[in-house]
Amino acid sequence: MSFYQKYRPKKIGELDLVSVRESLESSLKSGKISHAYLFVGPRGSGKTSAARILAQVVNCEKNQGKKDGLEEPCGKCQACESLIAGNSVDVIEIDAASSGLVDDIRDLREKVRLAPVQLPKKVYIIDEVHMVSTAGFNALLKTLEEPPKHAIFILCTTEAQKVPETIISRCARVSFTKATNKEIVGSLMKAVKGEALDIDEEALQEIAEATDGSFREGHKFLEQVAAYGKTIDSVLVLQVLGIVGRQSIKKLLEAAKNRESSKVVRIFGEMEKAGIKAQVLATSLLTEVKLMLEDNLERGTAIEAELKLVDELIEATDKIKVSPLPLLPLEIALLTLAIDDSGGGVSIPKVEAPARQEEKKDEIKSVSAESAIRGEDPENKDNLVVQNYDGPLANIEKIKMEWMDFINVMSASYGSLAGMLRLVSPVDVKGKSLTLSVTSRFQQDMLERDVKKKLIEEQMTKIWGPMTFRCVLGEKGPSRTEPELQDVNVEPVNNDTVEDKGIIGAAEKIFGG
Ligand SMILES: [Zn+2]
Repeated sequence: MSFYQKYRPKKIGELDLVSVRESLESSLKSGKISHAYLFVGPRGSGKTSAARILAQVVNCEKNQGKKDGLEEPCGKCQACESLIAGNSVDVIEIDAASSGLVDDIRDLREKVRLAPVQLPKKVYIIDEVHMVSTAGFNALLKTLEEPPKHAIFILCTTEAQKVPETIISRCARVSFTKATNKEIVGSLMKAVKGEALDIDEEALQEIAEATDGSFREGHKFLEQVAAYGKTIDSVLVLQVLGIVGRQSIKKLLEAAKNRESSKVVRIFGEMEKAGIKAQVLATSLLTEVKLMLEDNLERGTAIEAELKLVDELIEATDKIKVSPLPLLPLEIALLTLAIDDSGGGVSIPKVEAPARQEEKKDEIKSVSAESAIRGEDPENKDNLVVQNYDGPLANIEKIKMEWMDFINVMSASYGSLAGMLRLVSPVDVKGKSLTLSVTSRFQQDMLERDVKKKLIEEQMTKIWGPMTFRCVLGEKGPSRTEPELQDVNVEPVNNDTVEDKGIIGAAEKIFGG
């Protein structure tokens, strides 16, 4: 049995969420038990546990015939025992997320009329009730409109907005919130005592921080760590849970802001290996960006980059649950910042206009150098006009050999784009169309965005003649083979300022590499 099941609260007074506990305790006292409840709140916040206890409260022998002053379930009577064992036919748990449910609900409409078999009350606990179909809701509504006296419905949901208003209006709503760290620690302490664990306060806090307000997560984490031994400190917690320290978070954000996309990719690779939890990483990243934002506000510096990143991260966090690779949405969010050549924001030093002109000059120079490599006269201005290129079309072998050189030339002006290009490999060329193998849809999306595609194709054209490209999803990662310099297939060079070292040599000459 998992910690979460083993140490589930067994009484209303043991519920870990203070607000829910107090609200249900006052219902007990007044004896005002509704015939239908809507328990709303995030996963792992204790809705099902509370529903089961409530089912026990109304059925416990101690509470029969009482109008008010209901007590906690005794845990000993026949009703309590059968409910604790989970084998009473009168408390029916339905998981609306599973299939075949419409029939269940239709069935329910008939069966709910029948009196309970063993217990005073029939209790229906419907989990994830927002997943019920329209037909199902209609059946449910009919039942809630004329509820039999012997039945209680407890509808649980993480998404109340998906439950029809007609249903909601017939239920007493109980709001479950994300747990505070204090509440999580309080809940974990039951397991700590029960399992005789020796864990320090800091380690408990680390676990609580990582749960995002979910008791279930908290117990799961504690159980994972406890598998390594009964003595637990925060170092062990960080190692086992793969929680990211603040330094790593800073390193990651730094890399993104400095547009070092390949570094971002590398750090994410390491995190994936370490089994970092995406949700935890998202929270840590957002917390750090929030601090940066506040810091900038205080100093009166711009916050556009941070605001943008917050948007990207929140959007990414939404996608974590549906992504087969949970870290990927976050990686994309940071790469979007890293690759954003429109100037990710003000905190990042922008390239000033004069510098831009320098770049342009460099581009022209690099074209001259390419022309030189091909044995063309660098002074012949016609050769500088890309559209007029009339040399031989490059073949795939040549492109493969010169690929790293091409990336190096690109990286001089467009570091982030070059970073992306390092992760792809040329596979085929047909006429003027080059096929690149990418390893993810994300790379494809980034590279095929209009502006970026145009930039890349311009650079390609300067080196290999008129060239467009398209991406295909490959199975393998990029081949990292560096071309052998002496094999670089270049035309005889007459210009002795450029040595026979291929494009990289030219780039070195130009950029002083
Ligand atoms: Zn009892």
